Amino acid sequence: MTERSHPQPSGPLRIRCGAGTVASRGRLVREPPSATRTEFQRDRDRIIHCGAFRRLALKTQVFLPEESDHYRTRLTHTIEVAQIARSISRVLGLDDDLTEALALAHDLGHSPFGHTGEDALDAALGPAGGFDHNAQTLRIVTRLERRYPAFDGLNLTWETLEGLVKRNGPLVDAEGRSLYGRPLPAIFSELDARLGFDLATCAGTEAQVASVADDMAYNAHDLEDGLDAGLFDLPDMAEVPILAELIGRIAAETPNLDRNLTVRALIRAIVGVFVEDAIAESLRRLGAGGAAVAGSMARSVRPAIGLSPALAAASTAIKLFLRERMYRHPRLLDVRARAFDIMTDLATRLVGSPQELPSSWAAQAVAGPGAPKTMRLVADYLASLTDRGAVAEHRRLFRSTPDLR
Ligand code: MG
Repeated sequence: MTERSHPQPSGPLRIRCGAGTVASRGRLVREPPSATRTEFQRDRDRIIHCGAFRRLALKTQVFLPEESDHYRTRLTHTIEVAQIARSISRVLGLDDDLTEALALAHDLGHSPFGHTGEDALDAALGPAGGFDHNAQTLRIVTRLERRYPAFDGLNLTWETLEGLVKRNGPLVDAEGRSLYGRPLPAIFSELDARLGFDLATCAGTEAQVASVADDMAYNAHDLEDGLDAGLFDLPDMAEVPILAELIGRIAAETPNLDRNLTVRALIRAIVGVFVEDAIAESLRRLGAGGAAVAGSMARSVRPAIGLSPALAAASTAIKLFLRERMYRHPRLLDVRARAFDIMTDLATRLVGSPQELPSSWAAQAVAGPGAPKTMRLVADYLASLTDRGAVAEHRRLFRSTPDLR
């Protein structure tokens, strides 16, 4: 692939699965078309069959899996996001398969222990540009998965890569300054230079749907896991107006419902209310043309997909509640502090002595202790571990390992 050239389409799309099928601009490495699947179905299938996807089963969402087997993992969260995203995409007449591929890939780059592991790696690897899970997703799908003879990574379509790079909205302002809250990760700029993503605009509508669905999924399901874990209870939720309203509605419609069924009804109601609002609001923004005009709006600075102002405020209120009652709960902070130490220990130790990496990784350590390239290699290795893999690695390298139960 030469610099700044657009990828050549690997063949015309002849398979149509409905009004929402969009044509792909192609892949970095040209491939013959599939006889039976659209380009985005192939992207989805490659994501499902890759190693990073399977490891999501053993990575924390909010709780550490060692605490209980009943809470979400990154994999079950990802499946829930894909279900919600696909439902919204179908009603809006978008390409369901592209939406699904983007939803399934959105959390591939998470390190062990969720955002705690990410924060530890980011701090330990600052001189090499730190660590960011969105950037890591792109490293995985363009480099680190090695399963095809003709290319590293999964050779995904232009649209899927664009959607993963810009999944949280435009990355730079009109003057090219980062809107990312930190300097743009190198992998974003490298891919933009090769593929021309226009970082000042939103990604396509399918990526916007996946992003909205991610928010809905973790708001609702973190509330469910928090209730099940006893971190807070239904009466505590009255401080959030939309939750009070929904709990009141459930009680009025089905009096004397027990707590368990009330919790399930509440979570269903939350997802339903947000999904229906996002559909109505997005149809309003897209106008009566729906998918027919989605393409022209897709690369605007303002998103075409989103919540109404009232539900956007409700979503923010739920996030604030979760932050105070769940993410900052002493039980979580305590176990998180130990997980942070495990990841910091591992990063510091392996950057200083990369020969202690497992042999297949140590063989790639050409830059020596402390070098930025060594830091990136260590980040790739540590991010690839599962939660229990990180604990096992700590036990291999250190005399004592914090207990995470
Ligand atoms: Mg997510």
